[in-house]
Amino acid sequence: MPLEFADTHCHLDQLGDSALEEAAGVGVTTVVAVAQEAGSMRAVLELARRFPGRVLPGLGIHPCTVTERGLDALTVDLALLAEHAPEAAVIGETGLDHKWATNAEQQAEQMHVLECHFDIAERHAKPVNLHSRRCLRQTLEHAITFHRETGLAAQMHWFTESTKLVHICNDEGIFVSAGPAILTNDQAAAVAGEIAADLLLLESDAPVPVGGVPGHPRRVREVAEKLARLRGVSLETLAEQLGRNLRRYLGPQGATDYGRAARPQRSVR
Ligand SMILES: [Zn+2]
Repeated sequence: MPLEFADTHCHLDQLGDSALEEAAGVGVTTVVAVAQEAGSMRAVLELARRFPGRVLPGLGIHPCTVTERGLDALTVDLALLAEHAPEAAVIGETGLDHKWATNAEQQAEQMHVLECHFDIAERHAKPVNLHSRRCLRQTLEHAITFHRETGLAAQMHWFTESTKLVHICNDEGIFVSAGPAILTNDQAAAVAGEIAADLLLLESDAPVPVGGVPGHPRRVREVAEKLARLRGVSLETLAEQLGRNLRRYLGPQGATDYGRAARPQRSVR
């Protein structure tokens, strides 16, 4: 059986369909396509309809979008999110970003939108996918509260900056995804080595370029190979562990949708 991997955070709607086939060609057979606003929510739902089980839709409003779009557009985004949340595998990309929210008003607006995501995730029993630039600890604290209060899963995406915070994730049962940053940044690789085996997920965050290389979901394969070496496990063992982690992260309903495509008609292409 060829090894299979999942990209758990990818802006697939910003890439062509060919990206999905290219990724599958190196064993990255499942992609969680995260959205940023109304347009990309519609786009990822359409991708999930066209590629059932292979594309898992993440519905959400990116924190950078929150500061850019203003309240009127956000009202539309939030209404669409609430309406289609039952179809989502994951709620996100959501979170906080203090690079773009620099004043108290913008930060409060991001926080309000994040709380809306937590409410919707709780109502529909979905996991959340969290962005946390320049406010790592603060976002993690909200993730922990959400997870403790609801029992639902939370994922800190691209969260390989601090060993200390990863240890808190391990203690609190928060999922952490590692991406292509570990291929070029020794510090990020060392932090990724600390993520608990049963909380580890992989991601590309494509099309965001890393180390001068354009983002692509196929890079998840390289990330897996490097992590297997770092952690002293075989690639097979890592792939199995990651598959179990993804199922736990998605919860019973999401795991069923994922498993539906992950088993039979995979050989179509
Ligand atoms: Zn992203």
